[in-house]
Amino acid sequence: MEWQRNIKTLTEDEIKAWLREVDEKPFRAEQIQKWLFCQQVKSFDEMLNISPALREKLAKQFELRSLKEDQHMVSVDGTVKWLFETWDGHHIETVMIPANGRFSVCVSTQVGCAMNCAFCRTAKMGFFRNLEAGEILEEIINVNWYLKENNIFNEEGQIAQVTNIIFMGMGEPLNNLENVHRVCCTLHNQKLFNMGSKRMTVSTSGVVPRIKELVDRNTPCCLAISLNSTNNEYRSSVMPVNNIWPIEKLLEGVDEYIRRTDNYVTFEFVLIQGITCTPKAAKELIRICAPRRVKVNAIILNDGDDPNLHAPTPDEVDTFLAAVRAAQIQITIRTARGRDILAACGQLAHKKKNDQGVFERGSSLPDATPRQS
Ligand code: SF4
Repeated sequence: MEWQRNIKTLTEDEIKAWLREVDEKPFRAEQIQKWLFCQQVKSFDEMLNISPALREKLAKQFELRSLKEDQHMVSVDGTVKWLFETWDGHHIETVMIPANGRFSVCVSTQVGCAMNCAFCRTAKMGFFRNLEAGEILEEIINVNWYLKENNIFNEEGQIAQVTNIIFMGMGEPLNNLENVHRVCCTLHNQKLFNMGSKRMTVSTSGVVPRIKELVDRNTPCCLAISLNSTNNEYRSSVMPVNNIWPIEKLLEGVDEYIRRTDNYVTFEFVLIQGITCTPKAAKELIRICAPRRVKVNAIILNDGDDPNLHAPTPDEVDTFLAAVRAAQIQITIRTARGRDILAACGQLAHKKKNDQGVFERGSSLPDATPRQS
């Protein structure tokens, strides 16, 4: 298949440069971007204040829709998961989680992932390529189309729009920083999405030099770290990135980020019975968190993925939370959403790959509503 550049990847200045090359007026760049990101049109023909001749040039040169929806599935809890096919035949996932008046979207940033975390289905696919900024923005725009087409309203009684972005789908976002930076800038742009930087969170497995680069670039976003353990030996065994940047180095990066941005950092922490959800692990977590502006997002292990690992009992979770809270550390439990539709990162695309192109509703999807499009 022939590759055409995705118009949504380009900045306003880059569109201006192209317009000059094709003898068109540079001020058209702002109009084009408004059609793309405010009106969120589905074809160049809908750009009514752009001349037919320029629309034709645009269509010849650029792709406007490069993601094709393969299917979407709606969970009983309202979570929606999409499987998109990229222009070169790969599959990526996007998840929308409606909660407390917010419509958060977890976007993929790469096709597959090279970080090889032991607990992750995406890791088992290997790494294929980075997603372009335009493709990541299309994930978000597709969710907005869904909200509009299904008459889903926000608390103000208006058609809902995506309110928060989490870069935590397939891929390590900091290994695709150029494109993630472009996406954050487009979302933050007052003339386009006008999304506050606190509503965008980049979650990393711990690529320390890129955390510094994120600050150097002044990327408008918050930072989350998949910490998962405070023990180097265990963390290295499940997250190979820890062999390169162990916890001490990671904390140096976190400290520099906090010092230079004055933002909080969120630690994602999976609670596993007898390993990360013990009184000793709570003490270690307190030691790491107490001197820093951090919050902890605890996630109870999804029982069943690995026969050797188990979710803690409710009592064990309560004891852990009480110990951490007693040390004045902000910790919340993130409840798993969309389990019935394989909403965790990489599950659906991994299944698609294993099914060799045939996606069927499986026994692990008891309450899901799969829809082919
Ligand atoms: S958890 Fe994230 S960083 Fe680790 S392999 Fe999966 S997608 Fe990559």
